[in-house]
Amino acid sequence: MAIALYPGTFDPITLGHVDLIQRATYLFDRVIIAAASNPDKVPLFTLEERVELIRAVTAEIDNVTVIGFDNLLVECVREHNASVILRGLRAVSDFEYEFQLAAMNRHLDPEIETAFLTPSEHYAFLSSSLVKEVAALGGEVGDFVPPEVGQALAGKFKS
Ligand code: ADP
Repeated sequence: MAIALYPGTFDPITLGHVDLIQRATYLFDRVIIAAASNPDKVPLFTLEERVELIRAVTAEIDNVTVIGFDNLLVECVREHNASVILRGLRAVSDFEYEFQLAAMNRHLDPEIETAFLTPSEHYAFLSSSLVKEVAALGGEVGDFVPPEVGQALAGKFKS
């Protein structure tokens, strides 16, 4: 059974992430979406909020599990019996960082492979940061995030 673990900050989950998750479910028997605690990034949404939003948005997709984690990624992968780390590649700007990350993770555990998927071209330039910037200034983000996320963003920026 091939299990892929898809780590990320997901602050918040966007339709680009969902596109990737959907594609991954066609390739792997199980996809574990792992939201990183990532205190260094000072996320807008708490880890619990991010996990809840991912669960709500992926509820209809089969063979998906959602977890939060705050330990070393390769340890989290081993704990969940996964053999693949899934990451997304958008425009060229992602490449260097993702290449470094994959090399470090291979160094830490040579038995774990990193696999990359690319999203539909509609989402190739979409990022959680951009969505937050637009939402913070009152812009419409309905084309880029699921409705639950749109509501959660509106709630954050109202207060
Ligand atoms: P991180 O802080 O780990 O980069 P993100 O939530 O920003 O967390 O991204 C998680 C993964 O999803 C990364 O591999 C990133 O390249 C990928 N990703 C983010 N947005 C998109 C998108 N629009 N299309 C495809 N992949 C994406």
